[in-house]
Amino acid sequence: MAGEPQADCLFCKIVAGTVPATVVRETETTVAFRDINPQAPTHVLVIPRLHYPDAASLAAAEPNVTADVLREAGEIAAQEQVDEHGYRIVFNTGAGAGQTVFHAHAHVIGGRGLQWPPG
Ligand code: 5GP
Ligand code: ZN
Repeated sequence: MAGEPQADCLFCKIVAGTVPATVVRETETTVAFRDINPQAPTHVLVIPRLHYPDAASLAAAEPNVTADVLREAGEIAAQEQVDEHGYRIVFNTGAGAGQTVFHAHAHVIGGRGLQWPPG
């Protein structure tokens, strides 16, 4: 069924607690944890508990949960005190754009200068 946990999905395992992660915030619908290979002083991933392969498919099926992910991204930016300077919310979508884990996730990146356009 759509949204069901996938046995071979790393982020479903983090949701289930069978793979450890440094969790910074949790809600009924989302989990946020530090990226294992941070690209900035603040680099937190916000994921829905439901499994969808990318942000757009999550949004098509679960608009409320998608809003929860974005709201949590903002809460994390405030908690990490990167909101005043500015931060970035990134959804890599597709292998050609650098997506390596096919469970929707927002990268919250901040705490350093951020170039535009991104690489
Ligand atoms: P993507 O490349 O799909 O946009 O983002 C996946 C992110 O997950 C990468 O930034 C990568 O460093 C992170 N990541 C991969 N494996 C793990 C893990 O086991 N734990 C944590 N906390 N992050 C991971
Ligand atoms: Zn998953």
